[in-house]
Amino acid sequence: MVAEERPGAERWVPGKPTLAGLRAAATECRGCELYRDATQVVMGAGLRRARLVLLGEQPGDQEDRHGKPFVGPAGRVLDRALDEAGIDPADTYRTNVVKHFRWRARGKQRIHQTPQQAHVTACAPWLAAELAVHRPVGVVLLGGTAGKAIYGSSFRVGERRGQLTDWPTRVEVDHPPDWVLPTTHPSAVLRAEDRDAVYDGLVADLRVASRALAG
Ligand code: SF4
Repeated sequence: MVAEERPGAERWVPGKPTLAGLRAAATECRGCELYRDATQVVMGAGLRRARLVLLGEQPGDQEDRHGKPFVGPAGRVLDRALDEAGIDPADTYRTNVVKHFRWRARGKQRIHQTPQQAHVTACAPWLAAELAVHRPVGVVLLGGTAGKAIYGSSFRVGERRGQLTDWPTRVEVDHPPDWVLPTTHPSAVLRAEDRDAVYDGLVADLRVASRALAG
């Protein structure tokens, strides 16, 4: 992979973004090579007035096919956990740090591959633009890739989960959120041997976000 193949998304991001404008512009993005093997770009979904941004890793197989984030099995876990935590779905905007599905073939299956740091960096201008439009009160980081995108490569979910933290100065945005809350990605529930325990942990963390939103 040569550097020229990952110029980054900056040149495709409109100057005065709206959600509709971002969605339209992102279909043209060639900021890295991931667009080639994906069905379509998957930008965030939710209302402009949503106070909470839920930030995951990348679209999965179902998200890639439908063009919407968190519509697969992990999304259903997230929906249930938000409901139990008392967070109104209409108060959330769901998106990912990388907007195209990275996968490899195994027979007829498409197997998820974790995006590299270079993909996260290339795609970062889209997230910055989404945050500029939303100006959220809080951001929930779902899993390690989202955490590393915001706090750097030393981030570990287990060390920070469930704790309200400040937006790091290393990530420049026009209007930083009041707080950030790391937790596990809902797909971790599906992979866990003890699904109930991992799910309960996710709900407990989301309750911290729910209380913070309530002020
Ligand atoms: S993953 Fe991000 S930077 Fe790469 S092509 Fe897709 S939208 Fe552009």
